[in-house]
Amino acid sequence: MKRVILIKYGELTTKKGNRNFFISTLMQNIKNKLKNFDVIIIKDRSRMYIEFHDEDLEQIKRKLDCVFGIHMYHIAYLVDTNIDSIKNLLIELVQNLDFKTFKVETKRSDKIFPIHSQEMNRLLGSVVLKNKDNISVDVHHPELFIKVEVREKSSYIYFNAYHGAGGYPIGTQPRGMLMLSGGIDSPVAGYMAMKRGIPVDCVYFEAIPHTSLDARNKVIELSKKLAKYTNEVHLHIVNFTKIQEEIYKNCHPSYCITIMRRMMYRIMERLADQYQAYAIINGESVGQVASQTLTSMRVINEVTCMPVLRPVACFDKLEIIDYAKKIDTYDISILPYEDCCTVFVPKHPVINPSLEQAKKEEAKFDFSPMIDIAVENIHTIVLKESDDSFSDLL
Ligand code: ATP
Ligand code: MG
Repeated sequence: MKRVILIKYGELTTKKGNRNFFISTLMQNIKNKLKNFDVIIIKDRSRMYIEFHDEDLEQIKRKLDCVFGIHMYHIAYLVDTNIDSIKNLLIELVQNLDFKTFKVETKRSDKIFPIHSQEMNRLLGSVVLKNKDNISVDVHHPELFIKVEVREKSSYIYFNAYHGAGGYPIGTQPRGMLMLSGGIDSPVAGYMAMKRGIPVDCVYFEAIPHTSLDARNKVIELSKKLAKYTNEVHLHIVNFTKIQEEIYKNCHPSYCITIMRRMMYRIMERLADQYQAYAIINGESVGQVASQTLTSMRVINEVTCMPVLRPVACFDKLEIIDYAKKIDTYDISILPYEDCCTVFVPKHPVINPSLEQAKKEEAKFDFSPMIDIAVENIHTIVLKESDDSFSDLL
């Protein structure tokens, strides 16, 4: 009995104009994800089919669970579109299943097929009843849902349904630059942006020797977790030491965080231009800390006209934590290593900074050449899911 994975597209079915682009991007992403398996992938306007070897099924399912743009998938039995073949396969299949009540639901996309869906339901229902003892039809709460899809050449019978990752295929939007710290929020923000179809590059600001290599390692591990949803993630490491030291030497302590974040945004904008990215993404959440009040955000955001996506802006911390656990980044994020923001955090950061004052504070030192140097000296590493080959860098 031949089985295939039958994939139902997610939200992309609503994007009529872009449909082909969405479907071919999804197909390419699935191909990339499954490149180590011997599979055949076929697409049509409403479904994708993957032919696979039985022994690979569990591993393939795990990979598919991380591909955005898949709404639902089923492991379906394949049969020629001909009523006798469908009946015979169904009889064979139900013999091995344990159930008391069932319902048949047929979808007939091949309108040339002479039997209508309702008629097929009745016909196949009676075939099942005749060939198995002590069972009955229950149209409201069946124990076994028998789904039959009749298509032009082949038809599909399945009893299961697996939720896909949803969202849009990565690559259906231009690139975004994610500010990835070692905290809980930014990996979740990255995951959410990817789910909208945005390929994400990660940027980490470090201030060695004030921050440790353990802190960097944390960000590398988090990047690998994000790489699960795509093929590889580029992590750009910015040496932020000089800029931070100068800020703390020259600016009023209460404005240091505001100025530091304005510098980060300036560098982010430069990197976005360099890597053809269209947005900055970060894990800011309204009200979480002094630099994330709306007043602060406005003053910080003023240095760039690039869109800044803050996917977790309106989430409670507990909601963000739930997501972090779901995407398996939480345990890494709570490791205790210091981040450059926490190392330099002043006692009383300004909660409602003024733009005028922020500009005055940063006029106290010549930061432009420092930004140039930081951008020129970016160190980029490419990370794949569960890639351990970078331990020698640390
Ligand atoms: P936490 O989960 O503890 O809040 P966080 O990563 O959200 O950690 P914040 O101080 O709240 O840290 O910073 C807000 C956002 O700014 C982060 O979500 C991240 O996007 C960005 N950010 C902060 N520090 C860095 C850094 N060192 N490198 C890159 N991005 C950073
Ligand atoms: Mg935060």
